[in-house]
Amino acid sequence: MKKLADILKQKEFSKNELIYLLSLKGDERKQLRQRAAEVKNNIVGNKVYYRGLIEYSNKCKKDCYYCGVRASNQIPKRYDITDKEVLEAAEFAYKNRFASLVIQSGERSDKAFVDKISFLLREIQKISDQKLHITLSCGEQSLETYKAWRKAGAHRYLLRIETSNSDLYKKLHPKNQLHSFEERIQALKRLRETDYQVGSGVMIGMPFQTVDHLAEDLLFLKKIDVDMAGMGPFIEHKETPLYQYRNQLMSLQERFDLSLNMVALLRIMMPTINIAATTAMQAIDPQGREKALMVGANVIMPNLSPVKYREDYLLYEDKPCIDEEAEECLNCLAARIHMAGSTIGFDEWGDSLHYKMRQQ
Ligand code: SAH
Ligand code: SF4
Repeated sequence: MKKLADILKQKEFSKNELIYLLSLKGDERKQLRQRAAEVKNNIVGNKVYYRGLIEYSNKCKKDCYYCGVRASNQIPKRYDITDKEVLEAAEFAYKNRFASLVIQSGERSDKAFVDKISFLLREIQKISDQKLHITLSCGEQSLETYKAWRKAGAHRYLLRIETSNSDLYKKLHPKNQLHSFEERIQALKRLRETDYQVGSGVMIGMPFQTVDHLAEDLLFLKKIDVDMAGMGPFIEHKETPLYQYRNQLMSLQERFDLSLNMVALLRIMMPTINIAATTAMQAIDPQGREKALMVGANVIMPNLSPVKYREDYLLYEDKPCIDEEAEECLNCLAARIHMAGSTIGFDEWGDSLHYKMRQQ
């Protein structure tokens, strides 16, 4: 077996090496994370980019077994944020020099929804003088819809594969066409074809998931050549079918540590992509996002959704900051980011370097 220090000098890893690296503990794990920090600072630098997050709607036609806003859950009050509230959040982002927004939503493909997103994209472009870059995270859509949204002003799209193992995917979703693994892969292809900066990712620590699966996930993200990634721990939600397996899960701390190792490894494997420090990391550890920044992440998504809707957008339980207005969150966030040794890229789009290089 090669020495750890030698393996860490590589840019590509075999599946077995990834399994070994993901499982590191103690001092060896520290070496992995230090290597990732070094790669990040050398290639994308220590800047963090803000993406103001608008959780536009919790109405969803799907029934993913892990998610708190799945269609069959009767508890959340179903909402769409009003146009006025979306534009106020966009203005807040613009005034606070974020330069970027994310519009996330439950998945729907009815015409009213598709047209509404196009309308909001155009309005946001208008009020910000085309200066905000917009990421969408609204699930699987037709090529036509992806094109329409791209044309209306969206630049980036996040669609997590959730797991790259089709057998595991089937265990986490109902068995029907609406939840098809193959269709999700096709949707990622359509996004690439439509010239988005494409982001994907997985949940970490799900029932039935092994380190083997996670090693495959890293290789998958590399193979499809993502421009951006968002990965975070799975957090069980009472009102979902997967809750019955809660006693078989690894501890929250283990899921958190494995998530940090995933971020660190992906940074080493794909030095030029953008990687988000996800909110689910913060749900487990109050400093979770800052810790992710220190091992390779370079994007943070402060929540700009009006507080009154947040209780109804609980994808998982213990979601942080559900009662804090955006302004309050920002002050504490900036201080924490500086403590983590990073600076904030105000007024910068912070587009994926990987995407730019692919364009050339
Ligand atoms: N409907 C869209 C976007 C909203 S869901 C979609 O599914 O793509 C955004 C992400 O939340 C999902 O991709 C999933 O990875 C994450 N998520 C859902 N339930 C979760 C849970 N219980 N724990 C952690 N993350 C979860
Ligand atoms: Fe809907 Fe997305 Fe939740 Fe699945 S993960 S139920 S598509 S909001």
